[in-house]
Amino acid sequence: MASLVTESSLTKVSASARDFLKKPKQLLIDGCWVSAASGKTFNVFDPATSDTIAQVAEGDAEDINLAVASSRRAFSGPWSQMTPSERGKIIWKLGDLVLENLDELAELESLDNGKPLAVAKIADVPLTADLFHYMAGWATKLEGNTIPISVPYAPGAKFFAYTRRDPIGVVGQIIPWNFPLLMAAWKIGPALTTGNTIILKPAEQTPLSALRLGELALEAGLPPGVLNVVTGYGETAGSALASHDDVDKIAFTGSTEVGKIIVRAAAGNLKKVTLELGGKSPTVVFKDVADIDTAVQGAANAIFFNHGQCCAAGSRLLVEKDIFDEVTQGVAEIANKIKLGAGVDGATEMGPLVSEEQRDRVSGFIKDGLEAGATALAGGNSLDEKGYFVPPTVFTNTRPEMKIVREEIFGPVVVAEPFDDLEGVMKVANSTDFGLASSIWTRDISKAHRAAEIMRAGTVWINCHNVFDAAMPFGGYKQSGWGREMGHEALELYTETKAVCVAL
Ligand code: NAP
Ligand code: MG
Repeated sequence: MASLVTESSLTKVSASARDFLKKPKQLLIDGCWVSAASGKTFNVFDPATSDTIAQVAEGDAEDINLAVASSRRAFSGPWSQMTPSERGKIIWKLGDLVLENLDELAELESLDNGKPLAVAKIADVPLTADLFHYMAGWATKLEGNTIPISVPYAPGAKFFAYTRRDPIGVVGQIIPWNFPLLMAAWKIGPALTTGNTIILKPAEQTPLSALRLGELALEAGLPPGVLNVVTGYGETAGSALASHDDVDKIAFTGSTEVGKIIVRAAAGNLKKVTLELGGKSPTVVFKDVADIDTAVQGAANAIFFNHGQCCAAGSRLLVEKDIFDEVTQGVAEIANKIKLGAGVDGATEMGPLVSEEQRDRVSGFIKDGLEAGATALAGGNSLDEKGYFVPPTVFTNTRPEMKIVREEIFGPVVVAEPFDDLEGVMKVANSTDFGLASSIWTRDISKAHRAAEIMRAGTVWINCHNVFDAAMPFGGYKQSGWGREMGHEALELYTETKAVCVAL
């Protein structure tokens, strides 16, 4: 078989993206770009070719200490004196700058993560800008309440009580590699609009767009120390941030396993914790769906979008018995036709997975599924490529105890299972430790709303999947996390409520 990628991805990106790559990749601490205190760097790879495309400063505990001290100063500095309107305008400007640099940001994202450039251009970057614009508006709308109180043990006394929404303080944010820029925005946007200061630790695999975002944040007028960006490894930089005694909150997105480590690390000073973790989300297709072809395409997109590297990926396909063969064959046909290639190649429909480790992990799941007796209707094979490619895979003949059915694979692999009725399928849909997302495909609106009520997941999509918006809260039930991102729910988690009571 001919190689999927024969040319360096660097030849396919613009001069501005190449210029950015050539510059030293330092840490953003206190408004300045600095090398790691240790002087160390680490390599960033192009997942389509495994070539090194950049060297990035390897921050560790010492750099985290400097960044936390800077964020602490900034918390009570000019940032705290700004009016909400001034704060909102800077965040709005950051959204504008993201749009002005859309092409370059999309190229960096595609190069670094491997996702198709077109996807980065229509999804990752515009959603990032929209998040900042949405959150900018909230800066002037963070209201408390006035509360009529009675105080039964003080008869005749009069009081005036109200609440304030204060920022939490210095916030550590640790993000993953699947949507590097967008995950940074989901975290930074609500933290800034509520007046906090931030130390952001991007994923080791994909630090580039966060560094470019750091440049844009300075250009937008964020005062020094309000946003520090420390690249480095989770086990060193990330863990130092999560356990730091002068950090007031830690917000994490990534694996459930590391989420539990974060909770333990945060116990030292009982910092606030929010977690957006993994999922094993069901796509539930009833036989009365309005149009089977639309449902088939929807089920395929639910799992194959972003190569299955989506926390909300529809990785369990549950189909009503009468149409099971038609739907699974349809999804397998789509899988077989998906064109693999480098993200920056215009013809590519699915890029490589993010890293060698991730390719091996996903391939291990596929091998395990085959050995356990599942049938691969599509994919199931491995590819002999320099890049980290895995063919889209559709499994049937699975059993509930199989690893591929229970665990989050985080790759383009779906397990399909037939069902008989609503009651039965909802039991299966909810029989998981996760509870992040789900979709229901039917034209019976009563059934759709009944299923939505029974589903134990933070998002239920009806006749769609993977629809995200800055105004719609997102997060998990059960082991899929604590708290919500986006929407006004996110703001609650970046503010402390202060009750003020005045004796009149
Ligand atoms: P991960 O280890 O959970 O990484 C997420 C972030 O946490 C990265 O920035 C990582 O740093 C950091 N981190 C790792 N260990 C840490 C520690 N001890 N203390 C503080 N921070 C730490 O995820 P992964 O290893 O990249 O991927 C493994 C699996 O996690 C995937 O296969 C998938 O199942 C799941 N995952 C889920 C999501 C999601 O959106 N829910 C996203 C990514 C991955 P490094 O950069 O050094 O890893
Ligand atoms: Mg890791």
